[in-house]
Amino acid sequence: MQYNFIANISQVSSSGLTLAVVDPSDGQVFDQIQRSNAADIDAAVRAARQCLDTAWRQLDAVERGRLLMRLSVKISASVEELAAIEQRDCGKPTRQARADAVALARYFEFYAGACDKLHGDTLPYLEGYSVLTWREPHGITGHVIPWNYPMQIFGRSVGGALAAGNVCVVKPAEDASLIRVAQMAAEVGFPTGAINIVTGYGHEVGDALARHPGIDHISFTGSPSVGTLIQQAAAERHCPVTLELGGKSPQIVFADADLDAAVPAIINGIVQNAGQTCSAGSRLLVDQAIYEPLLERLGAAFEALRVGPASSDLDLGPLIRQSQQQRVWDFLSDAHAGNIPMVAQGSVVEEAPQSGFYQAPTLLRDVPVNHRLAQEEVFGPVLCAMPFQGEDQAVALANATQFGLVAGVWTADGARQFRMARRIRSGQVFINNYGAGGGVELPFGGVKSSGYGREKGFEALLGFTTLKTVAFRHGS
Ligand code: NAP
Ligand code: MG
Repeated sequence: MQYNFIANISQVSSSGLTLAVVDPSDGQVFDQIQRSNAADIDAAVRAARQCLDTAWRQLDAVERGRLLMRLSVKISASVEELAAIEQRDCGKPTRQARADAVALARYFEFYAGACDKLHGDTLPYLEGYSVLTWREPHGITGHVIPWNYPMQIFGRSVGGALAAGNVCVVKPAEDASLIRVAQMAAEVGFPTGAINIVTGYGHEVGDALARHPGIDHISFTGSPSVGTLIQQAAAERHCPVTLELGGKSPQIVFADADLDAAVPAIINGIVQNAGQTCSAGSRLLVDQAIYEPLLERLGAAFEALRVGPASSDLDLGPLIRQSQQQRVWDFLSDAHAGNIPMVAQGSVVEEAPQSGFYQAPTLLRDVPVNHRLAQEEVFGPVLCAMPFQGEDQAVALANATQFGLVAGVWTADGARQFRMARRIRSGQVFINNYGAGGGVELPFGGVKSSGYGREKGFEALLGFTTLKTVAFRHGS
């Protein structure tokens, strides 16, 4: 049984109800989490406020940084333990689960070093005056976290908020939970109430968090539709919101590209976490001149991909749950009905339990730009290829969705690299690479329906603070 973690104490929810936690690899229930409600959010907010007004306020930036660093070290020493939880909870193959735990440690390391480097400015003003700005924390930040990368998103969101001097109330997705990380924070000395975890359904406890008057800022990572709901609830009391939403990110391959470098990155960009990645490179735009040979090469690579239980550590694990599997099936049956050709498909290994939520990675070609497969987030291992002729068409196709999160451009032409980076509407553009190394240092977020928040990197700290301007009149 898992409990809420409020004021550094494990607590049952006030409803007395729990939710089953299912292992996506076999579809079996293996644990229970608390099904919390507004009363539990209220308890967490009170604990956070108490912390903010006492121990947290007295901690100077250097000490705050040391605390974050101690948590980073603790997480680094606990990679296997955390990876095992994440593997069971989310169906991540062992190597991917480990990589997430390593990234979590890296976020706390990065933000530990940033705590005492966040500062305001002095501004020129009238003669006889001095003006300065302070970067102040919002106070209590609320964090709504999705199931696809719980540890990584906790690291970038909660790590940044704490570094900027906030205290946190966190609502993980019901499919996954971050309770152990919060316990570790308490173990390394985080004061009571600095990090509070409240689990339950989004429409119950997530909604209660978005509405609570004691929450001073909300960081939401998830789907565009829920992002709208959160923003509407927060708008009632003018609470600032950071939105990190979905994507339909293009990988754009020109004829002069280094395909030896591009092919593995294109494949990893869609199979990582079984395609359940906001920044998945799910659209493949290919120069007509190399369309056939590149599809042939990718097809052979797709056929070699294997899907199986997370503990088997294959190329892909299962999808998170049955409804997600059904969603992918619906997209694929639409492709079939629309006569969209399938180039290749990987395979689900025999030992994968029938009760798990498996989906073979699939490469489709000639997907019409207005088809829902080219427009909507599948959130599964489905790559949609289409040809283009010339840079203008490549840009037009790249920008032809409601999303704008990430783009990959593969070309040896330096001037074209710059032109493409300028003309693509997205928060990140990778030239001859695609998200290598996790990019903890790189500001991340989107435009259009991908949201407008910027998390990761130093930039995130600006969003987790508010600027106060102080003007002194002292005479000359
Ligand atoms: P989701 O359904 O929007 O859920 C995200 C979180 O919001 C979960 O914790 C969920 O809780 C909660 N939630 C649901 N309804 C809510 C409500 N009415 N009020 C408050 N909170 C509510 O998204 P998902 O299906 O879990 O995750 C996939 C989506 O997230 C995709 O669109 C993906 O692209 C996006 N994503 C974006 C990024 C990024 O950084 N841009 C990163 C990862 C994922 P429960 O699920 O527990 O009910
Ligand atoms: Mg959900």
